[in-house]
Amino acid sequence: MPISLYNSLTRRTEPFAPLDPERVTMYLCGPTVYNYVHIGNARGPVVFDVLVRLLRRHYPQVLYARNITDVDDKINTAAQQQGVPIGTITGRFAQAYREDMAGLGVAPPDIEPHATTHIGPIITMIESLLDSGHAYAAEGHVLFDVGSFPAYGELSGRDPEELLAGARVEVAPYKRNAGDFVLWKPSTSDLPGWDSPWGVGRPGWHIECSAMSAAHLGDTIDIHAGGVDLLFPHHENEIAQSTCAHGGKVFARWWMHNGMLTFDGRKMSKSLGNVLLVHELLQLHPPEALRLRLLSGHYRQPLDWSEAAITQATSTLDGWYRVLRDLAGVELPAGELPVPERIEAALCDDLNTPQALAELSVLADAARQSGSAEAKATLLGGGALLGLLQQDAEAWFRRGESTVDAAHIEELLQQRQAARAARDFARADTIRDELAAMNIAIEDGAQGTRWSVAKG
Ligand SMILES: [Zn+2]
Repeated sequence: MPISLYNSLTRRTEPFAPLDPERVTMYLCGPTVYNYVHIGNARGPVVFDVLVRLLRRHYPQVLYARNITDVDDKINTAAQQQGVPIGTITGRFAQAYREDMAGLGVAPPDIEPHATTHIGPIITMIESLLDSGHAYAAEGHVLFDVGSFPAYGELSGRDPEELLAGARVEVAPYKRNAGDFVLWKPSTSDLPGWDSPWGVGRPGWHIECSAMSAAHLGDTIDIHAGGVDLLFPHHENEIAQSTCAHGGKVFARWWMHNGMLTFDGRKMSKSLGNVLLVHELLQLHPPEALRLRLLSGHYRQPLDWSEAAITQATSTLDGWYRVLRDLAGVELPAGELPVPERIEAALCDDLNTPQALAELSVLADAARQSGSAEAKATLLGGGALLGLLQQDAEAWFRRGESTVDAAHIEELLQQRQAARAARDFARADTIRDELAAMNIAIEDGAQGTRWSVAKG
């Protein structure tokens, strides 16, 4: 069954054909690790996890890289605020990210390159851009010369003239064109820095993906994926850097972008107080329901996130697991689980997960009605392709025993906040003790107070 994928670069859905059918290469822009990620950041990894599952069925080898950005000014700020070394922040939140993704049923990538362990390849790539006249050094910085790459703006469909000129923004004095972007910048002694031909400094953000992608997957890759919010300037800049550093070779043959999440119809923002961390959602809801919700819309469209939607996803899973629980005594046929054709067809059609989920519902009904081993196997096989229905049905229904009353906890935290604001520290401590007795650990930080179910 051929796979068709929408390509953001050509703005068309095209039959997918890898450069080398023996080895498909795919790169997804990963997180900057300075904090817990929010649920919007999880949509790409979950959606593209399904794509990787599909590709692995079709091709003998899929090399999938998802990077960790562990050098960034937001990381520096967090480390300074907390008075700890940068590595403490990045190590902690890279691990939290892996745990969050595992919680959502996302398989680890084959390669997880870190920017700080690729400074050599980054410097080499910048040098080749300088040698070929696509970059220039100025005041300790190295900048990419956007004017040197006529295809700049092709991915985002922006007018290169406009990008070159830049509008109404203050332009740094060392830039030739307003649109030029930083490849390397100088570091002072209190910031992370590496020796380079341009002095002690650190890479800009865009160059790391170009350098790490080339280092692990080669000059030309089959698929480059990420959130649509990265399309410009990040991906536009990646194309410029990689194409120019590799003598005009195509960088990524398919560009895939997932749409953003909205929250009850609104954009997520700190001021609206609707920033939902994966870390917290995983404790409040069945993780599989979160995954199901993230797959319930087409990946290119925006997806709305709400309590009601999670409740809906949970009840859908209740229905499917009820079928599997009723069939617990039915032994599966020997061999691998079958992959239902209609589910595979839906995914081969530009990863149409809503259609695949509708087919899964049909299979659940069929299994309930027939009660046959084949129908049960087909339901489980369809679930496997989507990363759903893989836990024991009994375990799914037992989950309620360990859930906590989140609303009550939030209420207590608000009371504690009010007590602290009123400098009533005795009252604040009493509430903290009360939470501890409920086995709830709390952590005060710059972002407010976070809580979690204490381990052990
Ligand atoms: Zn990237």
